[in-house]
Amino acid sequence: KRKRNEEELSSLTQRVDELDPKNRLKVFSELPISEPTLSGLSASHYRGLTDIQLRAIPHALKSHDILGAAKTGSGKTLAFLVPVLENLYRKQWTEYDGLGALILSPTRELAIQIFEVLRKIGRYHSFSAGLVIGGKSLREEQERLARMNILVCTPGRMLQHLDQTAEFEVSNLQMLVLDEADRIMDMGFQNTVDAIIDHLPKERQTLLFSATQTKKVSDLARLSLQDPEYVDVHETA
Ligand code: ADP
Ligand code: MG
Repeated sequence: KRKRNEEELSSLTQRVDELDPKNRLKVFSELPISEPTLSGLSASHYRGLTDIQLRAIPHALKSHDILGAAKTGSGKTLAFLVPVLENLYRKQWTEYDGLGALILSPTRELAIQIFEVLRKIGRYHSFSAGLVIGGKSLREEQERLARMNILVCTPGRMLQHLDQTAEFEVSNLQMLVLDEADRIMDMGFQNTVDAIIDHLPKERQTLLFSATQTKKVSDLARLSLQDPEYVDVHETA
């Protein structure tokens, strides 16, 4: 079984290496993604990709940084959750590797929505995932944090843990996602996000998504993105 897994994993990695993002694949089953993710997507009735997904996911699978803009309702959540699951899966991430991906959301409600989609499409993976949005005691959250592979959180609460939770290790972090980056900025979280980024390893993949391309977002992008792929989905009228 182990041998077979290794072979599957190396063939998956090879397919990702050979993937040409210019080929806009239209269904999830054509993408080089793992069986657990494909099963999770199909059990959640996701089959075809939306525009932002088909343009962003191939780059993200190849570990590129992304600055993505597409209006509300265009499917940005899967555009980052599929790469989060896949990039950790191909690295054979386990409970011993600690936090692999951090997803920042401007509001608790949006964080909860992301977490629910993650639970649905990630149901056949063995990653641990947590929601960090306050509302529970800091102590209660602290105990669970150390064991998490993927966290969905609001900026203020995340910074509080980074500053105060000694056993919270982020030095292995592979991916940072900022969802609704425009709203994160509009809500005045600029300094909080800067401080969070100061805690994180420089070598990482960063995916930044927003509904609009604002100047503030590009300021933030300068801080945190390396040679990003710009993925901008406009409606053609
Ligand atoms: P955004 O973050 O861009 O506002 P969401 O990720 O919240 O968009 O998705 C909007 C809606 O579209 C959700 O109801 C979601 O389930 C649905 N959706 C997303 N991707 C797909 C897809 N590939 N196929 C069908 N429905 C999708
Ligand atoms: Mg969204």
